Parts: sequence; C-alpha cells; structure tokens
Amino acid sequence: MTVDSELKGYIALQRLLDRRTAQRHDQDTAPEALQTLRSRFSERHERLAAASQRQTSLADERTRLESEVGALREEREHFKRQRSHVTNMKQYCAVVSELDTVETQLKTKEERLVQVVAELESIDEELARLSQETPEEREVRERAETDWTSRRAVIAVELATLRDEMARLKQDLGPAAWSRFERLWKSRKPAAVVPLEVSPDGQEWSCSFCHASLRPSLVQLAKGREDFATCDTCRRVLFDPEQYPD
Ligand SMILES: [Zn+2]
Repeated sequence: MTVDSELKGYIALQRLLDRRTAQRHDQDTAPEALQTLRSRFSERHERLAAASQRQTSLADERTRLESEVGALREEREHFKRQRSHVTNMKQYCAVVSELDTVETQLKTKEERLVQVVAELESIDEELARLSQETPEEREVRERAETDWTSRRAVIAVELATLRDEMARLKQDLGPAAWSRFERLWKSRKPAAVVPLEVSPDGQEWSCSFCHASLRPSLVQLAKGREDFATCDTCRRVLFDPEQYPD
C-alpha cells in the first residue's frame, strides 16, 4: 500500500471519527429550547415542593399559636377575676403585674398568628398557581420531548452507518496500516491526522491542530505524498487539504 493511499484511509477515518464525535455530542445534548422547558418544569416542581413544605410548617405553627393564645386568654381572664377580688394594694399590684405580663405575651402571639394566617393564604394561592401546567405549556413541552426523541433515533442510525463505514475502511486499510492508525489515534485523539494551515498571504504554513509554524521542507514532504509528514511539535500526521478534499 502506498503512503498516499494509506494517508487517504487515515484522513477518511479521521473524518468519520470527527463526525462520530459530533454525533455523540448531539446525542447527549438536548436542544437549548428543550433544556429551558425542562428546567422551567423542574423549577416549578421545586418551588411547589418548597411551598408545600412551608405550608406544613406554618400550619403546625398556627396550631401551636392558637392553643397558646387560648391558654393565655384563659390566664388573662383568671387574673382579671383575681383583680376584682383583691383585698389590699400589695395584692392588687401583684395581680396587675401578672396581667401585664400575660397581655404582652398574648399580644406577641396574636400578632404572629395574624402573620402566619396571612402567609398561609398567600401560599395557598401560590400552590394553586404552581400546581397546574396549562395545557398549552404541557403540549409545548411534550412536543419538544418527542422531537428530541426522534432526533436521537436519527442520530443512532447515523452512528450505526458511521460504524459500518469505519469497518469497511478498516478492511480496506489492512491490519498493518490499521494498527498504525490505531496507535496514532490512541496517543493523539481527538486528531491523528490534521490539515496544513496557510496564512492569508500564502507565505506561512502551520499545523492546524497546534498552530506551530512548519519548516518549508516539512510542507514539501506533506505535499509530496511519498512519505508521512509529522508536525515537529505535536507529532500529528499532516496533509494538504487541497489534495484531499472532504
Ligand atoms: Zn502540530
């Protein structure tokens, strides 16, 4: 097998491998629109879970406050009754002081109870709003999921085709050339063979992978196609893209 045909095989393999990488990436990456829909959906669920957790804890607090307020009111009545039965100033002062303490506590608890009830009402509203995904929203999301599933099925078919093409190339190359490519690929992936790159003025040549500039003799070697030319810096096999169009 000539260097030229072996190189042709390498380049074909490299292009298949590039396509495979791109396809695999596509297969693993849901379209941005779908990702947005999904995150909106899961965000809604998270908010729903947080709201319902808050609801439970507020409802517990309300129950506790209601019973505390009830107890304090009874206590207040008790001290009020005591006040009307005192027989001297000292007793009177003691009862009034107890009454003050109870009133203060009662006021704090009642205020908190009002806040809790108001917050519970607003959470009820939020839960009602979050609970329903509108039919339109649901349709859009489900359609995007279906489209993505079909797209991935297409990619899977394309990947199978690539696998077949690669197997054919492997056969064409023969075991010796194939294992040379394999060695190169294993140590240099994602690129074993790379095109030469020329500066806009056509004067300077470089490796398109590592961008190191290339000796003129190396460029000549690559263009001559009689022997493999390897980048001095990254050790990848170089080829002239004009000689091997896609
Ligand atoms: Zn290089």
